[in-house]
Amino acid sequence: MERNVIFKCPRTGMNVQHWLPGTASEAADTHVPVRCPACAALHFVNVASGKTLGEGIGRPLATSQTQPPSTM
Ligand SMILES: [Zn+2]
Repeated sequence: MERNVIFKCPRTGMNVQHWLPGTASEAADTHVPVRCPACAALHFVNVASGKTLGEGIGRPLATSQTQPPSTM
């Protein structure tokens, strides 16, 4: 069973729809890495709320490298 999640790309601000494989029982309050078609980066998206990490949580998962702010 698939479910889709719509999240807002934190880089481009575009709404991106992504289909998640897996069951609904896996769609708990967890973040999954999603390859963003808008900016080609990897975002961690909460499958329950559709929010991306870094959108208000502050610190990304297990990454020590910082990305330079993109000014597009
Ligand atoms: Zn993106």
